[in-house]
Amino acid sequence: MSDTSTNSGSPFHPVLRRQLRRSNIVDRPVDDYAWNGFLDRIDRAYRDNDQGRERLERSVGISSREIRELTLDMDRSSESLLAHERDRLRLLFDSVTTGLLVIDRFGRITSVNPEAARMLGDAGTLINSYLDQMLQMIGRDGEPRPLVNREELDRALRSGQWVRNDVRLADPRRPFQYVETSDGTLPAGVIAADVAIVAFRAGETHLGGLVVVTDNAAREEARSRLAWQASHDALTSLPNRLLLAERVEVALVQARRTGNWPSVMFIDLDRFKYVNDSLGHAAGDLLLVAAADRLQRCVRGGDTVARTGGDEFVVLCEGADDIAGVRIVAERILATLNEPFDLDADQAYISASIGIAHGSADDRDSDSLLHDADLAMYRAKELGGGRISEADERLRIEAAERMQLERALRSAVVQDDITVAYQPVFRIEGGDLVGFEALARWTHPTLGEVPPNRFIPIAEDLGLIVAIGDRVFDIACRDLASWNAQRAEGDLGFPLGMNVNISGRELSSPSLVPRVVAAIQRHEVPPEWLTLDVSESVLLQHGDVASARLEELRSAGIRVAIDDFGSGDSSLSSLRRFAVQMVKIDRGFITGIDSTIRDERVVRAVIDLAHALDCEVLAEGVEGTRELGVLRELGCEYVQGYLLGRPMPADEAFILATAVLRRTKPSEERSAQVITPDRWVA
Ligand code: C2E
Ligand code: MG
Repeated sequence: MSDTSTNSGSPFHPVLRRQLRRSNIVDRPVDDYAWNGFLDRIDRAYRDNDQGRERLERSVGISSREIRELTLDMDRSSESLLAHERDRLRLLFDSVTTGLLVIDRFGRITSVNPEAARMLGDAGTLINSYLDQMLQMIGRDGEPRPLVNREELDRALRSGQWVRNDVRLADPRRPFQYVETSDGTLPAGVIAADVAIVAFRAGETHLGGLVVVTDNAAREEARSRLAWQASHDALTSLPNRLLLAERVEVALVQARRTGNWPSVMFIDLDRFKYVNDSLGHAAGDLLLVAAADRLQRCVRGGDTVARTGGDEFVVLCEGADDIAGVRIVAERILATLNEPFDLDADQAYISASIGIAHGSADDRDSDSLLHDADLAMYRAKELGGGRISEADERLRIEAAERMQLERALRSAVVQDDITVAYQPVFRIEGGDLVGFEALARWTHPTLGEVPPNRFIPIAEDLGLIVAIGDRVFDIACRDLASWNAQRAEGDLGFPLGMNVNISGRELSSPSLVPRVVAAIQRHEVPPEWLTLDVSESVLLQHGDVASARLEELRSAGIRVAIDDFGSGDSSLSSLRRFAVQMVKIDRGFITGIDSTIRDERVVRAVIDLAHALDCEVLAEGVEGTRELGVLRELGCEYVQGYLLGRPMPADEAFILATAVLRRTKPSEERSAQVITPDRWVA
């Protein structure tokens, strides 16, 4: 039996055996009980330990050998995993479309991905250079300065993150020159980017950071293009109203410092609508582009030419030395716009109405200056166009009065304060009263009676005309129905007719005919009692829409008269173009017809032409008996005028409408006596 065995004879635990061998204890002293007991206890301890481990291994299901092998395997595979991960990261680093630069804890660039190299220069130049020296951004003043300074960079690398969005970086490879481009694209040598720095740390140790540069060129370009589009007119590429207002504002602010006040010129093209309507929109567009070009050539550097509406341009003059200089520019513009425009196959002639307002310390903001120029332009237009008008105190007072009128008219419409006066219409042969013209009337609380020539255009501008028209229509139909009922009852003769005026806005509204039909049905007025007066200029202005509307009215059985005939540019053509049943010759031709041979000839021609086209003729504004005589000779059917009856309130018109009229022909002498309607009454 070997000594290296237990008392029971089995060998000691291999570990104990190894230890005894290493201590050169080969033989176990037979009689040393204490020693042997000690060895046996150690042996048991080892065996107990083995048993414990085996129990553990059994419960885990894996042996310690297997664990060792597994650990080795893991070491091997984690090494290849790491290599694999490193490759993947490299691939990612190289292929992302974001610029990445790795910097050490001193801010020195140690690694650059291809995207960063594309944006900021080749890797050779970038690596080993310092980030704070390499990245330059362009300030608001257009000057380059470091994107991040040393302290900021140190702080970022120590404490985590640093981000700056929407910066414009200077391309370090290009010589730097910042020029605003007109179409919103980025100037050459400029990179729009977001830049972020993320610090690396291992525990408390600062290792450096990753710089992330995101190229925003596409976003930035889209944004600048949008901004450009929002501030420019698409057709002419001129600044629009928005940008103009901004520039006027800036000019006023500067003027407060320098005393060099800007002037503003409102330019409205006269007759542009005519070109558009007759030659088509494409020709109209060509004309606008050409006009924009001419305007730009008239102004000086530093001036702004803007397009603020269809045929409306505004020039902001900052370059002129004084008011006289501005006037010279305006004269030049007027002259250049008077030159013919070659539009493909056609040639067009237009002119312009120009309003000028000179800035002063009174101008609180761009609005007031622009408003003054606008007012002056309107005055130039009212005076016939093709001229220059300058804003002055009188114009401002007039504008203030108009504001006051506008306010009062609004409430008059709401409160139904618009009334109707009736002017009688007579047939010349026989002197019969044939009807009335309904004329709107408005009495202002302080200004007194305001003539319709003043308030109707305002109502048109304010969009109140439809409400006024409806009211006049309603009252006129109601009164006419009642008068004709009385005439029928008393056997007083044929039913009377009624002329009602309608304006351009009413004519162009698709709801006109349904509204008129509703009114006549409400009051049980047969359509043939009604005639709508549409002025010649309105018909010409609304062209095709007018023709269509006249057709609708005709289908509804309502007659139409061409009003103020002869006051427009192309009366003869309008008579041919628009199918009307009556021509009302403008007062301008009637006054003095008895003394002016030319007027007489014109009226004769108009009457003959109208008759040739199956139209009846009414002469407006007959004030003298001799005029009446001439008209009778010329074959004019109807007359209306102060001689025979002024516009009168409904109660007076009622008397006239329901009285028994003298059936005799009014002789010239008699008609001289029957100036007031009651004298016509038998
Ligand atoms: P209009 O349709 O040509 O009406 C005739 C105008 O000439 C009326 O002026 C009338 O009072 C005036 N007049 C008639 N005879 C004579 C005369 O012998 N001598 C002179 N000097 N004038 C005479 P009023 O009532 O001031 O109306 C002016 C214009 O306002 C009308 O011209 C018409 O265009 C417009 N108007 C009037 N009422 C309405 C309306 O209800 N709707 C619309 N849209 N326009 C209206
Ligand atoms: Mg009329």
